[in-house]
Amino acid sequence: MKAPYDVIVIGAGAAGMMCAIEAGKRGRRVWLVDHAEKIAEKIRISGGGRCNFTNIHASPETFLSANPHFCKSALKQYTPQDFMALVKKHGIAFHEKKLGQMFCDESAQQIIDMLLTECREAQVTLETQTSVTAVEKTTSGYTIKTTKEEQNCASLVIATGGLSIPKIGATKFGYDVARKFGLNVIKTRPGLVPLTFQSALLERCKALSGLSVDATVTCGKKSFSEGLLFTHRGLSGPSILQISSYWNEGEEIVINLSPGIDALAFFKERKQSQPKQDIQTALSHILPNRLAQSICADTEITGRLADLPERIISKLSDSVNRWSVKPGGSEGYRTAEVTLGGVDTAELSSKTMETNAHPGLYFIGEVVDVTGHLGGFNFQWAWSSGYVAGQYV
Ligand SMILES: Cc1cc2nc3c(=O)[nH]c(=O)nc-3n(C[C@H](O)[C@H](O)[C@H](O)COP(=O)(O)OP(=O)(O)OC[C@H]3O[C@@H](n4cnc5c(N)ncnc54)[C@H](O)[C@@H]3O)c2cc1C
Repeated sequence: MKAPYDVIVIGAGAAGMMCAIEAGKRGRRVWLVDHAEKIAEKIRISGGGRCNFTNIHASPETFLSANPHFCKSALKQYTPQDFMALVKKHGIAFHEKKLGQMFCDESAQQIIDMLLTECREAQVTLETQTSVTAVEKTTSGYTIKTTKEEQNCASLVIATGGLSIPKIGATKFGYDVARKFGLNVIKTRPGLVPLTFQSALLERCKALSGLSVDATVTCGKKSFSEGLLFTHRGLSGPSILQISSYWNEGEEIVINLSPGIDALAFFKERKQSQPKQDIQTALSHILPNRLAQSICADTEITGRLADLPERIISKLSDSVNRWSVKPGGSEGYRTAEVTLGGVDTAELSSKTMETNAHPGLYFIGEVVDVTGHLGGFNFQWAWSSGYVAGQYV
């Protein structure tokens, strides 16, 4: 058996690499282990291949967690500006796309290469295609057994991420380790995921597949105003992905398909100025033609504005500004960008990410019950939580 490492990090994704780099810089001997052949696959496929690596508006309000205050300390210790400084140091060109979302100009691979370079400089030993078969606590730290060998360490960091996209290596390993050590795991579910529909509504979505509009989508007290996309399975696009993290099965969501325009006021004005106009023609002035057609067909409202009573015009207006739908479900972990829930933050120090009950055992990144909104927040959580753990392991 080789001399023990000071730190073993399981999971060479965003959080694990950041933690390994920071620990290595402190002179800790770090072993970074991943079962995948290609590490950091989620970084590679993120942001449409350009990696939305942070968001300058990251704040506790942009994260979901049973304890909304938990993320504050890590976000303060390592900010979006800190990560942007690292990206600049490596000469990687980037830009703000919209809403504070920072993307590489060229490729997500640049972020992976940057992290690998930092790992090398910090003398981190990286081992891929290595599955961990057992984790045990010892008198001086932890022992892990892999398919290849057995290693000891003083600090063990679990950075194996969530359950989304099993095809590229997501596993429940982190949750299993937490449970083995008696830690509470908050029920997990897919987040930032397209919503699916059944029967007539599904047929409508299919017929409109490919069409996108700017919409405001509301579930309970939470609203998001961004693009909405009709798909063959239901609804997607940024506004739907965002609301999916707040939606629970059985709940309704309310969609405003024309947030900038009060449809009732618009129709009333049209009824005065162009009474002979067909209501579908009028509607196609505020919505794409296909969508206007679909709404009129669905509500069975047709005819000249002059001939339609206010009650009917009001019903059609509600279908535009207050379209209430009940999703049948979501596309699940197969396409979800994140996993909600995870290791209960009550088990961890917000300053260091160390477990309260087991000195030397840390959880970082998506495996923890902290989930960001769409737009670079999830990577920022990975960098921040990885960074702080790296200062203490
Ligand atoms: C399609 C897609 C696009 C996304 N785009 C963005 C974006 O643009 N911006 C953003 O902020 N977020 C984005 N996300 C979310 C973001 O990728 C994750 O929140 C982030 O990668 C989590 O980092 P992590 O290090 O905790 O986990 P991961 O990056 O998932 O890393 C976990 C690592 O652990 C390894 N692992 C898993 N199980 C084991 C095991 N049993 N043994 C050993 N190793 C194991 C995996 O192989 C992986 O390398 C996207 C997610 C997806 C799926």
